[in-house]
Amino acid sequence: MSASTPSDQPDVLIIGAGPAGAAAGYWLAHAGHHVVMIDRRSLPRGKACGGALTPRATHQLIDMGLGPSLDTWHRHVGITVAANERPVQLNWPTHPVFPPHGHVVRRRQFDQMVANHAVAAGAQLLEQHEAKEPIAERGFVRGAMVQSPGGRFAIRARYVLVADGGNSRFGRMLGTIRRADWPYALGARSYWETPRDCDDHLELGLDLHDRNGNVVPGYGWLFPLGDGTANVGVGVLSTAREFKSINPTHVLDNFARRVAERWDLDPSHPVGSIATGRIPLGGSVAPCAGPTFLVIGDAAAAASPFSGDGIGAAFETARIAADVLHEALTSDDATVLQRYPKLIDEQYGDQQAAGRLFARVVGRPALARELTRIVVHSRSLMEWSLRITTGMLRPDELGPAEAAYRAISLIARVAPGV
Ligand SMILES: Cc1cc2nc3c(=O)[nH]c(=O)nc-3n(C[C@H](O)[C@H](O)[C@H](O)COP(=O)(O)OP(=O)(O)OC[C@H]3O[C@@H](n4cnc5c(N)ncnc54)[C@H](O)[C@@H]3O)c2cc1C
Repeated sequence: MSASTPSDQPDVLIIGAGPAGAAAGYWLAHAGHHVVMIDRRSLPRGKACGGALTPRATHQLIDMGLGPSLDTWHRHVGITVAANERPVQLNWPTHPVFPPHGHVVRRRQFDQMVANHAVAAGAQLLEQHEAKEPIAERGFVRGAMVQSPGGRFAIRARYVLVADGGNSRFGRMLGTIRRADWPYALGARSYWETPRDCDDHLELGLDLHDRNGNVVPGYGWLFPLGDGTANVGVGVLSTAREFKSINPTHVLDNFARRVAERWDLDPSHPVGSIATGRIPLGGSVAPCAGPTFLVIGDAAAAASPFSGDGIGAAFETARIAADVLHEALTSDDATVLQRYPKLIDEQYGDQQAAGRLFARVVGRPALARELTRIVVHSRSLMEWSLRITTGMLRPDELGPAEAAYRAISLIARVAPGV
């Protein structure tokens, strides 16, 4: 564990050292600022996650200088979509910025790698330090009261970055609220031994069922890790009619049985326990900025409402927030922070609106079945869908996927209740 209290008042106190907090710590320290990251747990720590890094997430890691370290993790070059036992293999779309590949990681080691990188850039990491409540001075947040094994003490800072994950208790204390009528996902995952651990395509199964055979909106995944195992899991959307009665662990059990033969795995014997977690989606948390604080990653519900991928969005929101804080610090102007919500809307607004509409549509079994039937019968529709749902639209040309996306997001932005 890193040492006790920070030596002098940091420019930025970051609450949470997951992907969002660690990336922000890296960018701020890299820019020369005094940063303290605190995490209530000690690293390495596990996290319920599929561990799939999209090309977009991979791009962020390369920009942070972590490209060479990524080579230790299994690489994938595309996705196999299996619906009704009809697998279709797609390579990642070409893109002028993002690489044509991604990786599958174990969060236990991966999160530590990113946090260590931030420390190497000059950030201070305090593990087993939990932010218990904000310090407010004349109405402005100026740090946090922190509980550590050595006792309770104050960390004061000019700015606070909230990166405390999906439950975001600290964020709630600052007044953030999750819109209860917007979709979220519940996920469950474990690891299974499989001889297909070196497959170079991720696999998604679009036909999820509960124990009674009812269709469940969401998808199952098999993400090969290249070490004799695959991360196998399911994500279930809250727009399902009987959502409250769906147990994601049961859905995972069912999914593992369905894929057991093709992946040569023993569904009754996962390696390790099943972990479950909630993924807030599509910008459902607001506000994401206050006069002296910003909110990033899952705490800001940054994950894609199409796929639930949140690691790339955690990195991206961290980088945008770090840029804003850098400008506020160098210009000595706190009002710069108010640009952050607009920057987030420019980056994700269309995707979030379209994704919320999508989540509502697939929450209706008949519509979801019809949509899946149409999409899986057309390779080009699947390629467009992959571009849209993984945020890999080309900024440099207006192809069919880009045109369809613009139309959908326009409709979604004006549709009532989306
Ligand atoms: C089942 C499941 C599968 C998923 N699969 C994928 C996937 O394959 N690919 C993908 O891109 N995304 C996936 N996600 C989403 C992804 O896990 C998250 O989007 C990502 O972890 C968000 O990073 P974060 O840093 O915002 O939050 P977190 O990773 O949750 O990190 C938050 C950190 O804050 C710390 N913390 C919390 N409260 C405090 C406090 N008060 N004081 C100090 N520290 C605190 C926590 O200990 C934690 O370390 C999945 C999620 C689930 C649940």
